[in-house]
Amino acid sequence: MQPQSKFQPTYSFEFFPPKTEEGAENLLTISERLARLNPDFFSVTFGAGGSTREKTFETVIEIQRKTGMEGAPHLSCIGSTHDSIRDIINKYRGHGIRRIVALRGDMPSGMMSAGEFQFASELVEFIRRETGDHFSIEVAAYPETHPEAANAEKDLTHFKRKVEAGANSAITQYFYSPEGYFYFVDACEKMGIDLPITPGIMPITNYTQLSRFSERCGAEIPRWMRKRLESFGDDRASIRAFGIDVVSHLCQKLLDNGAPGLHFYTMNRAEAVLAIWQNLNLTSTPGRLSENRLIYCGQA
Ligand code: FAD
Repeated sequence: MQPQSKFQPTYSFEFFPPKTEEGAENLLTISERLARLNPDFFSVTFGAGGSTREKTFETVIEIQRKTGMEGAPHLSCIGSTHDSIRDIINKYRGHGIRRIVALRGDMPSGMMSAGEFQFASELVEFIRRETGDHFSIEVAAYPETHPEAANAEKDLTHFKRKVEAGANSAITQYFYSPEGYFYFVDACEKMGIDLPITPGIMPITNYTQLSRFSERCGAEIPRWMRKRLESFGDDRASIRAFGIDVVSHLCQKLLDNGAPGLHFYTMNRAEAVLAIWQNLNLTSTPGRLSENRLIYCGQA
Protein backbone atom coordinates (compact mmCIF):
# COMPACT_ATOMS: atom_id res chain seq x y z
CA MET A 1 0.00 0.00 0.00
CA GLN A 2 1.43 3.38 -1.00
CA PRO A 3 1.70 6.08 1.68
CA GLN A 4 -0.97 8.67 0.99
CA SER A 5 -0.39 12.35 1.49
CA LYS A 6 -2.48 13.71 4.35
CA PHE A 7 -3.19 16.65 2.07
CA GLN A 8 -5.39 16.71 -0.99
CA PRO A 9 -2.89 16.23 -3.88
CA THR A 10 -2.40 19.33 -6.00
CA TYR A 11 -1.10 19.38 -9.58
CA SER A 12 -0.01 22.61 -11.22
CA PHE A 13 1.92 23.97 -14.19
CA GLU A 14 4.13 27.02 -14.23
CA PHE A 15 4.62 29.35 -17.21
CA PHE A 16 6.54 32.54 -17.81
CA PRO A 17 5.04 35.55 -19.61
CA PRO A 18 5.87 35.33 -23.33
CA LYS A 19 7.95 38.10 -24.87
CA THR A 20 6.62 37.98 -28.44
CA GLU A 21 3.27 37.55 -30.14
CA GLU A 22 4.38 34.18 -31.43
CA GLY A 23 5.35 33.18 -27.89
CA ALA A 24 1.93 34.30 -26.65
CA GLU A 25 0.13 32.19 -29.25
CA ASN A 26 2.34 29.24 -28.44
CA LEU A 27 1.60 29.60 -24.72
CA LEU A 28 -2.14 29.60 -25.31
CA THR A 29 -1.85 26.40 -27.34
CA ILE A 30 0.28 24.81 -24.62
CA SER A 31 -1.99 25.89 -21.80
CA GLU A 32 -5.00 24.47 -23.64
CA ARG A 33 -3.23 21.14 -24.08
CA LEU A 34 -2.19 21.04 -20.43
CA ALA A 35 -5.66 22.15 -19.28
CA ARG A 36 -6.96 18.82 -20.60
CA LEU A 37 -4.99 17.18 -17.76
CA ASN A 38 -7.24 19.09 -15.38
CA PRO A 39 -4.58 20.60 -13.11
CA ASP A 40 -5.51 22.50 -9.96
CA PHE A 41 -3.98 25.72 -11.27
CA PHE A 42 -1.56 27.36 -13.68
CA SER A 43 0.97 29.79 -12.25
CA VAL A 44 2.78 32.59 -14.08
CA THR A 45 6.18 33.85 -13.00
CA PHE A 46 7.11 37.42 -12.38
CA GLY A 47 10.43 39.01 -13.21
CA ALA A 48 12.03 36.09 -15.03
CA GLY A 49 13.70 37.37 -18.19
CA GLY A 50 12.80 40.97 -17.31
CA SER A 51 9.03 40.44 -17.42
CA THR A 52 6.96 43.01 -15.63
CA ARG A 53 4.04 42.62 -13.22
CA GLU A 54 1.78 43.89 -15.99
CA LYS A 55 2.90 41.02 -18.24
CA THR A 56 2.30 38.50 -15.46
CA PHE A 57 -1.16 39.91 -14.89
CA GLU A 58 -2.06 39.88 -18.60
CA THR A 59 -0.80 36.32 -19.02
CA VAL A 60 -2.76 35.00 -16.02
CA ILE A 61 -5.95 36.66 -17.21
CA GLU A 62 -5.51 35.41 -20.77
CA ILE A 63 -4.82 31.83 -19.69
CA GLN A 64 -7.81 31.84 -17.35
CA ARG A 65 -10.00 33.21 -20.12
CA LYS A 66 -8.79 30.70 -22.67
CA THR A 67 -8.72 27.57 -20.53
CA GLY A 68 -11.20 28.21 -17.70
CA MET A 69 -8.55 27.01 -15.22
CA GLU A 70 -7.45 28.87 -12.11
CA GLY A 71 -4.46 31.18 -12.70
CA ALA A 72 -2.01 32.12 -9.96
CA PRO A 73 0.35 35.06 -10.47
CA HIS A 74 3.78 35.01 -8.84
CA LEU A 75 4.45 38.21 -6.95
CA SER A 76 7.91 39.20 -5.76
CA CYS A 77 8.41 42.03 -3.31
CA ILE A 78 12.09 42.97 -3.45
CA GLY A 79 12.52 46.62 -4.44
CA SER A 80 8.79 47.34 -3.94
CA THR A 81 6.89 49.75 -1.75
CA HIS A 82 3.85 48.88 0.35
CA ASP A 83 1.73 51.08 -1.91
CA SER A 84 2.79 49.37 -5.11
CA ILE A 85 2.15 45.89 -3.66
CA ARG A 86 -1.21 47.07 -2.29
CA ASP A 87 -2.19 48.26 -5.78
CA ILE A 88 -1.30 44.98 -7.41
CA ILE A 89 -3.01 42.72 -4.89
CA ASN A 90 -6.14 44.87 -5.06
CA LYS A 91 -6.06 44.57 -8.84
CA TYR A 92 -5.73 40.80 -8.59
CA ARG A 93 -8.55 40.65 -6.08
CA GLY A 94 -10.71 42.82 -8.33
CA HIS A 95 -10.20 40.32 -11.16
CA GLY A 96 -11.26 37.35 -9.08
CA ILE A 97 -7.78 35.91 -8.59
CA ARG A 98 -7.70 33.74 -5.46
CA ARG A 99 -4.17 32.36 -5.36
CA ILE A 100 -0.77 34.08 -5.29
CA VAL A 101 2.75 32.66 -5.23
CA ALA A 102 4.43 35.10 -2.82
CA LEU A 103 8.20 35.54 -3.19
CA ARG A 104 11.02 37.80 -2.25
CA GLY A 105 12.58 37.60 -5.71
CA ASP A 106 16.18 38.53 -6.47
CA MET A 107 17.55 42.04 -6.40
CA PRO A 108 17.95 43.22 -10.02
CA SER A 109 21.57 44.15 -10.79
CA GLY A 110 22.08 47.87 -10.34
CA MET A 111 19.27 48.22 -7.81
CA MET A 112 20.67 49.57 -4.54
CA SER A 113 17.74 49.42 -2.15
CA ALA A 114 15.59 46.45 -1.15
CA GLY A 115 12.58 48.75 -0.90
CA GLU A 116 10.05 48.30 1.89
CA PHE A 117 10.14 44.51 1.93
CA GLN A 118 13.22 42.51 2.79
CA PHE A 119 11.92 38.95 2.85
CA ALA A 120 9.01 36.94 1.49
CA SER A 121 7.63 36.48 5.04
CA GLU A 122 6.95 40.24 5.10
CA LEU A 123 5.05 39.98 1.82
CA VAL A 124 2.93 37.11 3.13
CA GLU A 125 2.19 39.09 6.30
CA PHE A 126 1.28 42.15 4.23
CA ILE A 127 -1.08 40.25 1.92
CA ARG A 128 -2.84 38.73 4.94
CA ARG A 129 -3.11 42.08 6.69
CA GLU A 130 -4.52 43.78 3.61
CA THR A 131 -6.80 41.08 2.23
CA GLY A 132 -7.51 38.63 5.08
CA ASP A 133 -8.25 35.16 3.79
CA HIS A 134 -9.08 36.18 0.23
CA PHE A 135 -5.94 34.64 -1.27
CA SER A 136 -4.53 31.19 -0.94
CA ILE A 137 -0.81 31.93 -0.58
CA GLU A 138 1.94 29.67 -1.90
CA VAL A 139 5.54 30.26 -0.83
CA ALA A 140 8.87 28.87 -2.02
CA ALA A 141 10.73 26.09 -0.18
CA TYR A 142 14.30 24.87 -0.69
CA PRO A 143 14.97 21.22 0.20
CA GLU A 144 18.63 21.74 -0.85
CA THR A 145 18.82 25.11 1.01
CA HIS A 146 18.48 28.55 -0.55
CA PRO A 147 21.85 29.63 -2.03
CA GLU A 148 22.07 32.79 0.11
CA ALA A 149 21.16 31.13 3.40
CA ALA A 150 23.82 31.13 6.11
CA ASN A 151 23.05 27.45 6.73
CA ALA A 152 20.29 24.86 6.33
CA GLU A 153 19.03 25.30 9.90
CA LYS A 154 18.57 29.06 9.53
CA ASP A 155 16.92 28.61 6.13
CA LEU A 156 14.41 26.28 7.74
CA THR A 157 13.70 28.81 10.50
CA HIS A 158 13.10 31.45 7.85
CA PHE A 159 10.82 29.09 5.96
CA LYS A 160 8.84 28.57 9.18
CA ARG A 161 8.47 32.33 9.50
CA LYS A 162 6.78 32.48 6.07
CA VAL A 163 4.42 29.72 7.09
CA GLU A 164 3.56 31.44 10.37
CA ALA A 165 2.95 34.68 8.49
CA GLY A 166 0.04 32.95 6.76
CA ALA A 167 1.15 30.75 3.85
CA ASN A 168 -1.27 27.96 2.89
CA SER A 169 1.16 25.77 0.98
CA ALA A 170 4.66 25.68 -0.46
CA ILE A 171 6.27 24.76 -3.76
CA THR A 172 9.88 23.66 -3.77
CA GLN A 173 12.80 24.64 -5.89
CA TYR A 174 13.42 21.78 -8.32
CA PHE A 175 15.70 18.93 -7.33
CA TYR A 176 16.65 15.47 -8.57
CA SER A 177 17.31 13.73 -5.23
CA PRO A 178 14.07 12.66 -3.59
CA GLU A 179 15.93 11.85 -0.34
CA GLY A 180 16.71 15.53 0.18
CA TYR A 181 13.05 16.42 -0.28
CA PHE A 182 11.80 13.83 2.21
CA TYR A 183 14.47 14.81 4.72
CA PHE A 184 13.34 18.43 4.38
CA VAL A 185 9.65 17.51 4.82
CA ASP A 186 10.51 15.48 7.95
CA ALA A 187 12.56 18.35 9.36
CA CYS A 188 9.61 20.70 8.75
CA GLU A 189 7.22 18.35 10.53
CA LYS A 190 9.58 18.15 13.50
CA MET A 191 9.48 21.94 13.70
CA GLY A 192 5.69 21.92 13.68
CA ILE A 193 5.38 23.15 10.10
CA ASP A 194 2.16 21.64 8.88
CA LEU A 195 1.29 22.53 5.28
CA PRO A 196 1.58 20.78 1.92
CA ILE A 197 5.06 21.12 0.43
CA THR A 198 4.64 20.30 -3.25
CA PRO A 199 7.78 19.25 -5.14
CA GLY A 200 8.74 21.53 -8.02
CA ILE A 201 9.58 19.38 -11.05
CA MET A 202 11.90 20.54 -13.82
CA PRO A 203 11.72 18.37 -16.95
CA ILE A 204 15.08 17.94 -18.68
CA THR A 205 15.18 18.93 -22.34
CA ASN A 206 18.26 21.12 -22.67
CA TYR A 207 21.32 20.27 -20.59
CA THR A 208 23.22 23.53 -21.18
CA GLN A 209 20.26 25.58 -20.04
CA LEU A 210 19.58 23.31 -17.08
CA SER A 211 23.22 23.57 -15.90
CA ARG A 212 23.07 27.34 -16.09
CA PHE A 213 19.80 27.54 -14.12
CA SER A 214 20.97 25.03 -11.55
CA GLU A 215 24.19 26.93 -10.95
CA ARG A 216 22.21 30.09 -10.30
CA CYS A 217 19.48 28.70 -8.07
CA GLY A 218 21.51 26.12 -6.15
CA ALA A 219 19.67 23.05 -7.45
CA GLU A 220 22.03 20.09 -7.62
CA ILE A 221 22.25 17.84 -10.65
CA PRO A 222 23.66 14.56 -9.27
CA ARG A 223 27.01 13.51 -10.73
CA TRP A 224 25.62 10.33 -12.34
CA MET A 225 23.02 12.41 -14.17
CA ARG A 226 25.53 15.05 -15.27
CA LYS A 227 27.88 12.38 -16.62
CA ARG A 228 25.06 10.77 -18.59
CA LEU A 229 23.79 14.07 -19.93
CA GLU A 230 27.31 15.18 -20.92
CA SER A 231 27.83 11.94 -22.78
CA PHE A 232 24.89 12.73 -25.08
CA GLY A 233 26.60 15.88 -26.43
CA ASP A 234 24.27 17.54 -28.95
CA ASP A 235 22.04 14.50 -29.28
CA ARG A 236 18.82 16.18 -28.18
CA ALA A 237 16.64 13.12 -28.67
CA SER A 238 18.76 11.10 -26.22
CA ILE A 239 18.80 13.95 -23.68
CA ARG A 240 15.04 14.17 -23.94
CA ALA A 241 14.48 10.42 -23.62
CA PHE A 242 16.83 10.20 -20.63
CA GLY A 243 15.21 13.27 -19.04
CA ILE A 244 11.70 11.88 -19.37
CA ASP A 245 12.78 8.56 -17.93
CA VAL A 246 14.67 10.03 -14.94
CA VAL A 247 12.06 12.66 -14.11
CA SER A 248 9.18 10.17 -14.42
CA HIS A 249 10.95 7.91 -11.91
CA LEU A 250 11.59 10.86 -9.62
CA CYS A 251 7.90 11.87 -9.70
CA GLN A 252 6.74 8.32 -9.12
CA LYS A 253 9.01 7.97 -6.11
CA LEU A 254 7.79 11.27 -4.70
CA LEU A 255 4.12 10.36 -5.10
CA ASP A 256 4.62 6.81 -3.83
CA ASN A 257 6.17 8.18 -0.67
CA GLY A 258 3.50 10.71 0.12
CA ALA A 259 4.34 13.95 -1.76
CA PRO A 260 1.19 16.10 -1.93
CA GLY A 261 1.15 16.48 -5.73
CA LEU A 262 3.55 17.99 -8.27
CA HIS A 263 4.26 21.47 -9.65
CA PHE A 264 5.82 21.39 -13.12
CA TYR A 265 8.19 24.10 -14.33
CA THR A 266 7.04 23.81 -17.92
CA MET A 267 9.37 26.45 -19.44
CA ASN A 268 6.40 27.10 -21.74
CA ARG A 269 6.74 23.66 -23.34
CA ALA A 270 4.23 20.86 -23.14
CA GLU A 271 5.86 17.78 -24.69
CA ALA A 272 8.10 16.61 -21.84
CA VAL A 273 5.43 17.32 -19.21
CA LEU A 274 2.85 15.37 -21.20
CA ALA A 275 5.22 12.43 -21.60
CA ILE A 276 5.98 12.37 -17.85
CA TRP A 277 2.29 12.71 -17.01
CA GLN A 278 1.47 9.79 -19.25
CA ASN A 279 4.20 7.66 -17.64
CA LEU A 280 2.72 8.42 -14.23
CA ASN A 281 -0.75 7.54 -15.41
CA LEU A 282 -2.00 10.55 -13.52
CA THR A 283 -5.14 10.97 -15.56
CA SER A 284 -6.59 8.04 -13.67
CA THR A 285 -5.95 9.62 -10.26
CA PRO A 286 -9.29 9.43 -8.46
CA GLY A 287 -10.86 12.50 -6.94
CA ARG A 288 -9.34 14.95 -9.40
CA LEU A 289 -12.42 15.91 -11.31
CA SER A 290 -13.49 19.07 -12.97
CA GLU A 291 -14.41 21.03 -9.83
CA ASN A 292 -11.15 22.94 -10.37
CA ARG A 293 -12.57 24.61 -13.41
CA LEU A 294 -13.44 28.23 -12.91
CA ILE A 295 -16.42 30.11 -14.15
CA TYR A 296 -14.47 33.01 -15.60
CA CYS A 297 -16.23 36.35 -15.24
CA GLY A 298 -14.37 38.05 -18.09
CA GLN A 299 -13.42 41.33 -16.42
CA ALA A 300 -10.13 41.65 -18.30
P1 FAD B 1 12.79 34.36 1.18
O1 FAD B 1 11.88 33.32 1.73
O2 FAD B 1 12.63 35.74 1.68
O3 FAD B 1 14.29 33.86 1.46
C1 FAD B 1 15.38 34.44 0.78
C2 FAD B 1 16.65 34.25 1.59
O4 FAD B 1 16.59 35.08 2.76
C3 FAD B 1 16.87 32.82 2.11
O5 FAD B 1 18.25 32.57 2.09
C4 FAD B 1 16.36 32.88 3.54
O6 FAD B 1 16.99 31.93 4.39
C5 FAD B 1 16.75 34.30 3.94
N1 FAD B 1 15.84 34.90 4.95
C6 FAD B 1 14.49 34.86 4.96
N2 FAD B 1 14.02 35.53 6.04
C7 FAD B 1 15.10 36.00 6.71
C8 FAD B 1 15.27 36.77 7.90
N3 FAD B 1 14.22 37.19 8.62
N4 FAD B 1 16.53 37.09 8.30
C9 FAD B 1 17.61 36.67 7.56
N5 FAD B 1 17.52 35.94 6.43
C10 FAD B 1 16.27 35.60 6.01
N6 FAD B 1 11.86 34.48 -8.75
C11 FAD B 1 11.35 35.46 -9.51
O7 FAD B 1 12.01 36.49 -9.70
N7 FAD B 1 10.12 35.36 -10.10
C12 FAD B 1 9.34 34.29 -9.92
O8 FAD B 1 8.24 34.24 -10.45
C13 FAD B 1 9.83 33.22 -9.10
N8 FAD B 1 9.08 32.12 -8.87
C14 FAD B 1 9.56 31.14 -8.03
C15 FAD B 1 8.74 30.04 -7.74
C16 FAD B 1 9.19 29.02 -6.91
C17 FAD B 1 8.27 27.87 -6.61
C18 FAD B 1 10.49 29.09 -6.37
C19 FAD B 1 11.00 27.98 -5.49
C20 FAD B 1 11.31 30.17 -6.63
C21 FAD B 1 10.85 31.22 -7.45
N9 FAD B 1 11.62 32.35 -7.73
C22 FAD B 1 11.12 33.35 -8.52
C23 FAD B 1 12.97 32.47 -7.18
C24 FAD B 1 12.99 33.24 -5.85
O9 FAD B 1 12.53 34.57 -6.04
C25 FAD B 1 14.44 33.27 -5.36
O10 FAD B 1 14.82 31.97 -4.99
C26 FAD B 1 14.74 34.26 -4.27
O11 FAD B 1 16.16 34.33 -4.13
C27 FAD B 1 14.17 33.93 -2.90
O12 FAD B 1 12.85 34.12 -2.83
P2 FAD B 1 12.01 33.56 -1.56
O13 FAD B 1 10.64 34.00 -1.72
O14 FAD B 1 12.29 32.15 -1.32
O15 FAD B 1 12.74 34.44 -0.38
